[in-house]
Amino acid sequence: MLIDIVSIFPAMFRGVFGESIIRRAEENGLVRLRVIDLRDFSSGKHRKVDDAPFGGGAGMVMKPEPFFKAVSFLRQGDKNPDLCRVVLMSPRGKLFTQERADQLSKAEHLIVLCGHYEGVDERVHQYLAQEVVSIGNYVLTGGELPAMVLVDAVTRLIPGVLSDVSLEEESFSDGLLEYPQYTRPRSYLGMTVPEVLLSGNHELIKRWRQKESWQRTLKNRPEILKKGPYEEN
Ligand code: SAM
Repeated sequence: MLIDIVSIFPAMFRGVFGESIIRRAEENGLVRLRVIDLRDFSSGKHRKVDDAPFGGGAGMVMKPEPFFKAVSFLRQGDKNPDLCRVVLMSPRGKLFTQERADQLSKAEHLIVLCGHYEGVDERVHQYLAQEVVSIGNYVLTGGELPAMVLVDAVTRLIPGVLSDVSLEEESFSDGLLEYPQYTRPRSYLGMTVPEVLLSGNHELIKRWRQKESWQRTLKNRPEILKKGPYEEN
């Protein structure tokens, strides 16, 4: 998969993409990440990418031309244009979910556009982006952190990046949050690991985990519960 990120602050991505699983995925040839400076697609010696809003109001709006030019340039090499998705990060978009991450992980080419200032000219939302994505109900200063969140969530789902088993029982994988996890020591400062996890009885452990998953979801995120109430079997 090729992931292109278009931003006016490309240096922000170095640390995040240069470490851990994303770095390994790149080294193993499972994903290729490129960060593109939007200003390279602006005109004039001041490399201007923003202007005052029509109709008046606070702040500056990002101009459409640099985004259209950047995407057109980046799509030139696409052999299969249907497998390219252009995503604009915006608090006005649809909420990002694990399901959305899963769908995007099937693309061959992802182009992620980052806004700044008061946001991006509406024509980019309407005519360039195929998807407008928000990472949550809050406003950040720029699209860089949201883009990192999206790219991280998508990259770890690309086949081969993590083991299939790691992904199987994760939070959201079956409409539930994950069960509690423990490791050594068995007892720490008087806090002990639940006995069932030390029992070696895989059936009992499975049932305990299912129950904990369901209870935790009910308590913390009742709105994502798709399944009926937990039934002891
Ligand atoms: N004036 C805009 C509004 O009220 O919707 C907010 C613009 S925000 C300050 C600047 C940029 O940050 C946006 O264009 C977007 O790219 C990014 N951004 C901020 N919050 C975001 C969020 N929750 N999800 C995705 N992108 C976000």
